Amino acid sequence: MAKGARDAGGRIERFCPATGIDRDGDEWIVKTPKGDIRCEFVVNCAGYYAQRVGEMFKPFGGRTVPMVVMSHQYFLTEPIAELEAWTKEVGHKVPLVRDVDISYYLRQDKHGLNLGPYERNCRAHWITPDDPMPEDFSFQLYPDDLERLEFYIEDAMARVPILGTAGVGRNINGPIPYAPDGLPMIGPMPGVKNAFEAHNFTFGIAQGGGAGKVLSEWIMHGQTELDMWAVDPRRYTGFTDHDYCLSKALETYGHEYAMHFPHHTWPAGRDKKLSPVDDKVRALGGQMGAYNGWERANWFAKEGDDTSEEATQTWDRNGPWAKRIRDEVEAVRDGVGVLDLPGFSRFNLSGDGAAEYLRGKISGGLPKVGRMTLGYFPDNRGRVLTEMSIMRHDEDFFTLITAATAQWHDFDALNNGLPEGLSLTDHTDAYSTLIVTGPESRALFERIGTKADLAAPWLTIQPAEVADVNCALARVSFAGELGWEIHAANADMPALYAAVLSGGAKPFGMYALNAMRIEKGYRAWKGDISTDYTMFEAGLDRWVKLDKPQDFPGKAALAAQKQSGVKKRFVTMVVEAGDQDAPFMSTVYHGGEVVGETTSGDWGYRVDKSIALGTIRSDLATAGTELEINIFGRMCKATVQPDQPLWDPQNERLRA
Ligand SMILES: Cc1cc2nc3c(=O)[nH]c(=O)nc-3n(C[C@H](O)[C@H](O)[C@H](O)COP(=O)(O)OP(=O)(O)OC[C@H]3O[C@@H](n4cnc5c(N)ncnc54)[C@H](O)[C@@H]3O)c2cc1C
Repeated sequence: MAKGARDAGGRIERFCPATGIDRDGDEWIVKTPKGDIRCEFVVNCAGYYAQRVGEMFKPFGGRTVPMVVMSHQYFLTEPIAELEAWTKEVGHKVPLVRDVDISYYLRQDKHGLNLGPYERNCRAHWITPDDPMPEDFSFQLYPDDLERLEFYIEDAMARVPILGTAGVGRNINGPIPYAPDGLPMIGPMPGVKNAFEAHNFTFGIAQGGGAGKVLSEWIMHGQTELDMWAVDPRRYTGFTDHDYCLSKALETYGHEYAMHFPHHTWPAGRDKKLSPVDDKVRALGGQMGAYNGWERANWFAKEGDDTSEEATQTWDRNGPWAKRIRDEVEAVRDGVGVLDLPGFSRFNLSGDGAAEYLRGKISGGLPKVGRMTLGYFPDNRGRVLTEMSIMRHDEDFFTLITAATAQWHDFDALNNGLPEGLSLTDHTDAYSTLIVTGPESRALFERIGTKADLAAPWLTIQPAEVADVNCALARVSFAGELGWEIHAANADMPALYAAVLSGGAKPFGMYALNAMRIEKGYRAWKGDISTDYTMFEAGLDRWVKLDKPQDFPGKAALAAQKQSGVKKRFVTMVVEAGDQDAPFMSTVYHGGEVVGETTSGDWGYRVDKSIALGTIRSDLATAGTELEINIFGRMCKATVQPDQPLWDPQNERLRA
């Protein structure tokens, strides 16, 4: 790679540490002992030193890089004569063995073997003030820690006896950076303009080529060919303190080869952000999951339900939660339910010209004052950068609401190009939301004393008083029933939640909500919605107004795609799924040929069917087409549905 860079005109200056950073107009000045380097863009790619280098960016809006340095060891055997003879005879090495249960890899290194475990009893380094990171650790290693390896070596020797025939050649114990989820950070540096990151690589030799491609796309084009949210540095927001990073890094490293079962929630680094009614939700049996640090109930257990972590070690849809999800969905379908939803990302945009600014960002139209709509923000290739709910309080005053995890990403989407004079502020931590939904929800609001116009139609917003508490009501339901969201200041939430519960609402959780939204074909952020698809490919034609006078990102690209034809289309599929529903990114086949992929899947309890949303070749996207979806290795028959929600296709229940 260094040769490639030099051949292309790059200059590599070795032994030249960056000691500080400054700005001069539009330029960065990187300070080094060999002199200043001026540049338009700068990248923090300091490996396990990324947190230290990240500190230099704090005066320019940067944050502490969420990471921890782990020790990773592998040991090499002496050459093994039998292996050497075999390799010479066949002309290649033995295949790599990866034992995902015991948690190690074993591969041939020259004529010996290399064993590298990811131990449960792993270790982080340089994590306390009395053990600071050395100024320079280049070309150095930690002392051997063979005790930690013993169990793995013994197990590997039992499985691959040839390993035991050779002596230990050398042990390597080196520093390896870990972000809380063990994935690298490649993309825009949160909070800092014209600065990027490419660090926290745990398999950086293997990942280097792809990382370079993605990083250069970010720098050259401000966007990437494939959706790169999984490694976007903005996926972590402000809650990632040192304790969180440490406990997650230990958990992630120790489970590097673990299965990620669909109903399993990882226990480390929890309770970082709590709802104003968190204690009440747990007292009601809430089984919690973390959403960008916010704890929300996934489902509500009853006395005697198995709520152990072991029970979640299954790919199956059914488990102790299934009956409860069904009860929760049926309560919402037939009566009224309440879901406590802390952590919706929430921004206010105001000032003269705010409406015109937003019109230039979204592909569709704005709501009238007192109403709300979904706003889609395409990138300049017409791909779906994000979706936000837009609430309009006044001509030039909006609240935009988006997924918890989208907080920094979507703030950037709004802030990028914000003209002088407009105000954009983040209110995520100050307010919270309750979803109150089901055919009985209007009666509930009347029962508990509500000062609001409960006849105001679907997609209206209004200030209100519920049980004498000030709040705002938005007539919308992600569950697809009659319903309202209550938005209120945190301090007012306990009284509101108590009032709604006393009015007879049954608490429901995120699993029930997901099951219901998928029956409506409502998209989930960075699952169904991503820059892997254009607005047309994502089936969002209804939100594209090519005839509106304002230009918006991707308008020309979308017009061109409309002319040339859309090759992929978003569809809803009903799947003969057996015991497991389609996960994100299952491959879709037609006549043995790959024709697309799922973007989400779940059981729909109101229609009693397994549902998958996905994107397939557009010539197949007609109702009745039979396909196959590979679900965890099983080929399952799937049928394309008409282009309308499976539940309440005319939205009559929503509008009731
Ligand atoms: C024991 C062990 C085995 C491994 N095995 C594998 C494997 O088999 N396959 C694989 O893919 N990966 C493996 N890895 C991981 C791999 O080595 C790393 O992911 C990779 O080296 C990360 O590359 P990087 O460029 O991001 O960071 P680094 O290699 O850490 O490079 C960062 C550079 O930044 C420099 N730097 C730091 N601060 C400054 C500053 N202020 N100014 C200027 N420069 C600075 C450092 O000197 C360093 O040269 C292993 C790691 C270990 C420890």
